[in-house]
Amino acid sequence: MTEPTPTVDMEKLVSLCQRRGFIFQSSDIYGGLNSCWDYGPLGVELKRNIKEAWWRMMVQGHDDVVGLDASILMHPHVWEASGHISSFSDPLVECKECHQRWRADQLEGDRCPSCSGELTEPRQFNMMFKTFMGPVEEDAAVVYLRPETAQGMFVNFQNVVNTTRKRLPFGIAQIGKAFRNEITTGNFIFRSREFEIMEIEFFVKPGTDKEWFDYWVGERFNWYVKLGIRRENLQLRPHEEDELAHYASKCSDIEYLFPMGWSELEGIAKRDDFDLRQHQEHSGKSLEYYDDDTKEHYLPYVVEPAAGVDRAVLAFLCDAYTEEPDKDEVRVLLRFHPDLAPIKVAVLPLSRKENLTVFAKDVYADLRPQWAVSYDDTQSIGRRYRRQDEVGTPYCVTVDFDSLEDKRVTIRERDTMNQIRVPVAELKNTLQTKLNGEDLFVLPPGGEVWKVERE
Ligand SMILES: [Zn+2]
Repeated sequence: MTEPTPTVDMEKLVSLCQRRGFIFQSSDIYGGLNSCWDYGPLGVELKRNIKEAWWRMMVQGHDDVVGLDASILMHPHVWEASGHISSFSDPLVECKECHQRWRADQLEGDRCPSCSGELTEPRQFNMMFKTFMGPVEEDAAVVYLRPETAQGMFVNFQNVVNTTRKRLPFGIAQIGKAFRNEITTGNFIFRSREFEIMEIEFFVKPGTDKEWFDYWVGERFNWYVKLGIRRENLQLRPHEEDELAHYASKCSDIEYLFPMGWSELEGIAKRDDFDLRQHQEHSGKSLEYYDDDTKEHYLPYVVEPAAGVDRAVLAFLCDAYTEEPDKDEVRVLLRFHPDLAPIKVAVLPLSRKENLTVFAKDVYADLRPQWAVSYDDTQSIGRRYRRQDEVGTPYCVTVDFDSLEDKRVTIRERDTMNQIRVPVAELKNTLQTKLNGEDLFVLPPGGEVWKVERE
């Protein structure tokens, strides 16, 4: 068997993202802010769709998981209890010549990789962003931007138990921003200092944690496959003892074959009762759970599937990216799963003649309440199809002069470029069933296969 190779190189993808409005460098007009990124009009739709697909399958789809949206700023004692103030640091060295900073554990050799200058002794560098709450800048007012979302779930454990009456096993899910002052960043949106996490803290009875760990590894792996990532571009990598985070007793990464090689997309960790125990000690409040069945009080164990939203965006972009020969040119398309495609349908009138425009705008207005729909009447129809292919729009609806007479329009599919013709009255239902996965050639009443040769 040959080793799989990445589907696209990073430069190509970054350029497409910039050119088509998926992702921009932050503060671009000021020369950019290192490793911070802005999601443009298409990127924000893609990212929202990924988060919604996660929420739908992980929260709505599991009757033992409930949601939470905790604040980014938390009581400073949270980070003492969690161990982030003492342990959340990387060894940092600085070049004595050019003053660039490096992570000591990622360097080969003992000289600066940039200028070969001499390096300082390593010191521990805490990765939490520090700021001040209220008008005074003094130690008592120090707060941190959260470096992970998990603590919001742990400190609300009792609130959720009391208000939802959930019994073990159950999970609390959250999607939100986190911040890490990483020494080295890079690979586009893969490692940035401000990022979004979607994660679940799943609380279980001690002793059942191993089977729940395996369950969540499977659930999370399959989520990516269901949403279109090719199985061969995903792998599971259990952590070695010495690379476990300070709170974890076991961890497996779901890795994706990114352009820079296999890298972590999501981590599933067994945190046991580390966090609840720490918060119980530091807060003085009992976080024990009362088990009705066994009449026991105990601290639950925790299994945590934690996925990076931005890494998921990057993986779905990479996996969707396709180049195909197209006569003398190359057709670039993003084969997004319909649930993730930023635009679901594009309405394309064949010309800008007024009667055609009126008809096409009616079709457009009719579809917009239901989906993200785009309207494009510039340039040739072939060029417009290519533009939609390049941003992953699954279906184009073409309105031509016959449409005015027979009240029918053409649906053209992105991946196959096949076309069917359907009555306008059937359009919305037909698009819905196609977006749900029905084959294009299953025709509605009055529909016909229109044209199957290449455009
Ligand atoms: Zn240097």
